[in-house]
Amino acid sequence: MATVQLDQVNRKFNQVTAIEDITFKIPDGEFWVLVGPSGCGKSTILRSVAGLETVTSGQVFIGDRLVNDVPARQRDVAMVFQNYALYPHMSVRENIAFGLEMRKVDRNMIQERVLTVARSLSLEHLLDRKPKQLSGGQQQRVALGRAIARQPQLFLMDEPLSNLDAQLRDDTRAELKQLHQQLGITTIYVTHDQIEAMTLADKIVVLNRGRIQQIGDPQTVYASP
Ligand code: ADP
Ligand code: ADP
Repeated sequence: MATVQLDQVNRKFNQVTAIEDITFKIPDGEFWVLVGPSGCGKSTILRSVAGLETVTSGQVFIGDRLVNDVPARQRDVAMVFQNYALYPHMSVRENIAFGLEMRKVDRNMIQERVLTVARSLSLEHLLDRKPKQLSGGQQQRVALGRAIARQPQLFLMDEPLSNLDAQLRDDTRAELKQLHQQLGITTIYVTHDQIEAMTLADKIVVLNRGRIQQIGDPQTVYASP
């Protein structure tokens, strides 16, 4: 687990300022949600924390280390995007196990983790299927499962539920909530969905045109008319 700290972070693309003066600190184990209109800088913040984006100025820390000082392979960060990318030739079981295999986790431990994750995401009966034999919603749950199985120190999620239909979105949101309560992994989560933000967030960061407009708990942020 880890704290995440951004200190006066700016990112410009030529003339365009994507994010400006972004400063916040996420305590270990908290679930923070970034909201705001399209183009306000949510993905740029997420990508900067992931080390996929070099910031123009300012500093990004995970724990006490500057993100860009840590080699990519050592960053213990799992990302889940809207467009899940599963390995098509691998079964669900192998997809979920992949990150653990890479880390040379003990074989019995892998089996156990895969089963636990599959159970919590209702994927047990699908473990031997290939991604193309699954619905979009099921594929997205496998992508979540693959990220969760690794038990990283940090989760970064960019609208992970937005491609799911309403019922599945409700179920998966509840499962995410429960998983977070169990595992307590620090999470940054981007969404357009107010219910997701209200249900999941310890804190909500409201962004507008690349700047922080408000940081507060869900009751405070959504209390204002
Ligand atoms: P979303 O609104 O769903 O967050 P975007 O369409 O803003 O997604 O961005 C998707 C990807 O395209 C991101 O990786 C972002 O960095 C990149 N991107 C966004 N705007 C531009 C742009 N004007 N030029 C080049 N790449 C961009
Ligand atoms: P959001 O995720 O909130 O939709 P983004 O972080 O994707 O917003 O984008 C913030 C701003 O930065 C937008 O104006 C977008 O066009 C711009 N931007 C993002 N990535 C790039 C890029 N690679 N090149 C140029 N402009 C970009």
